[in-house]
Amino acid sequence: MTDCIFCKIIAGDIPSVKVYEDDAVLAFLDISQATKGHTLLVPKQHVADLFAYDADLAATVFSRLPKIARAIQASDPAIQGLNVLNNNGEVAYQSVFHSHIHLIPRYGTDDDFSIHFGDHSATVTPETLETTAAAIRAKVVD
Ligand code: AMP
Ligand code: ZN
Repeated sequence: MTDCIFCKIIAGDIPSVKVYEDDAVLAFLDISQATKGHTLLVPKQHVADLFAYDADLAATVFSRLPKIARAIQASDPAIQGLNVLNNNGEVAYQSVFHSHIHLIPRYGTDDDFSIHFGDHSATVTPETLETTAAAIRAKVVD
């Protein structure tokens, strides 16, 4: 896609700092470096977000995650863990609309990266859970 910054990176028209590449994916350092080693894994094929993946593309992209995660982990003995994050849609903090997976190594609880999971269990009942799950189940298609 001509107006896509990650397509331009994949094409070599914009520089990037590569950590892994094969025929189907590219992994490069995120310019923001939320933590040291913060890496983006992208399919070389332009796809906007997870909603647009088919099973083959998902298998291709997600199968690369473990080895890149292990390489990041092995790159620095200070790394204690790693968050994998994939934002889909503006409301979900997606700012580049070429699908990408963040790999964010963690150096401890004070490494300036956090995720907030709200706890709404006080308002959840078995009935509301079942209604929610039924609505999702009804929309699962292969
Ligand atoms: P998201 O908010 O999930 O869409 O993440 C987009 C990410 O792309 C952000 O973390 C940016 O720092 C990163 N980013 C944007 N432009 C570049 C670039 N030219 N090279 C590396 N990372 C980039
Ligand atoms: Zn693109």
